[in-house]
Amino acid sequence: MINNRLNIQDPEVFNLIEKETERQNHNVELIASENFASKAVMEAMGSTLTNKYAEGLPGKRYYGGCKFVDVVEDIARDRLKQLFGADWANVQPHSGAQANAAVYLTFMNPGDKLLGFDLSHGGHLTHGSPVNFSGILYDAHFYGVEKETGKLDMNRIREKAKEVNPKMISIGASAYPRDIDYEAFREIADEVGAFLWMDMAHTAGLIAAKLLNDPLPWCDVVTSTTHKTLRGPRGGIILKGRDSENSLGKVAPKSGRVKMWSELLDGAVFPGTQGGPLMHVIAAKAVAFGEALRPEFVSYQKKVIDNAKAMANRFTELGYKVVSGGTDNHLVLVDLRNKNLTGKIAENALGNAEITVNKNMVPFDTQSPFVTSGIRIGTPAMTTRGMGPDEFGYIVELMDKVLSKPEDTDLQEQVIRDVKALCERFPLYDFVTI
Ligand SMILES: *Cc1c(COP(=O)(O)O)cnc(C)c1O
Repeated sequence: MINNRLNIQDPEVFNLIEKETERQNHNVELIASENFASKAVMEAMGSTLTNKYAEGLPGKRYYGGCKFVDVVEDIARDRLKQLFGADWANVQPHSGAQANAAVYLTFMNPGDKLLGFDLSHGGHLTHGSPVNFSGILYDAHFYGVEKETGKLDMNRIREKAKEVNPKMISIGASAYPRDIDYEAFREIADEVGAFLWMDMAHTAGLIAAKLLNDPLPWCDVVTSTTHKTLRGPRGGIILKGRDSENSLGKVAPKSGRVKMWSELLDGAVFPGTQGGPLMHVIAAKAVAFGEALRPEFVSYQKKVIDNAKAMANRFTELGYKVVSGGTDNHLVLVDLRNKNLTGKIAENALGNAEITVNKNMVPFDTQSPFVTSGIRIGTPAMTTRGMGPDEFGYIVELMDKVLSKPEDTDLQEQVIRDVKALCERFPLYDFVTI
């Protein structure tokens, strides 16, 4: 309906959207942070709710006319709390980075020490990178994985925490294929008197389906995106750890009332770091959380993990080095150094064959972030389209074919045909997500 209108009014933009849809339909999409949101989610996003200003929270808005959007936001919060067994949630952050900004504003003062997961070992920009506000405003220190295992070693992290004495420890990564021991992190945080924050942007869907360890009982605060494994609209969320509530000694200036974490976190989102919430996106979040509460969502997430394991196995059989020797989650990190390839060359060659991956640093990489020695591969998107372990094994074989002769453009053309034939068996938006 809306597209017809767009076609008449602005064919230039309409045609580009059509081309992008076509690209998504005919490419093997393996970017670990991407997924395909359902049509229902996209309908909510493309709705009249984009017109509404609703600064504040349900029942406490700075604008009139909020009676319907109030209910929408309440539904989104309630479903989200149910999904993760949380007693408090905020669904307003525009993105994962915005959710994280609110955490810093709540728990840290500028100059305070953070201990975060090293970006070059799989961490995220917002965990203290020098080019991000988190590294500019706060004193960031890092822990990483072990060279031999590619895994986190809790004893080494404890040593680092004692040496740094951070105000907050962050957990969470964008390229770590293993599950995380939150209980051990909690012990370390308690030993050094630090707040503990988990950013589950990548793994939220797997955690919601209870297929990975649950951070909520151990962490003070948990943030996430909603568009990765959680398969919702582009956005962010904040949850409070199950047994965490404290005032941080902060008191409301006028009333003298003691403010607790949840209230401080709400205030750190708005007015702390954002203006009006995106009510159309909050409606789409409500729809996505509704989908995630259905049993089909759990079986989808199981397939995401099975498919990632199938990829890791096939890569290993074909002589590739898989970081940490395998995967517990939705992603596989391939170290290409024994194949004499860089991430950049691999990303380009595969891209020419319409297989989309991203180059990625591997632990102890000697290449720059623009070149890298690895590629990161994720299964959430193609699993949503209905593919299983056989198809993922076949995709690895196609990738191996391309990577064995990365300069061979004839070969890439040939693989495009195989990719198209595969994609046509699993059409985009033919799948049913609920
Ligand atoms: C993707 C990601 C983010 C950022 O999310 P945006 O919505 O892109 O801002 C934050 N933290 C981690 C660990 C991520 O993987």
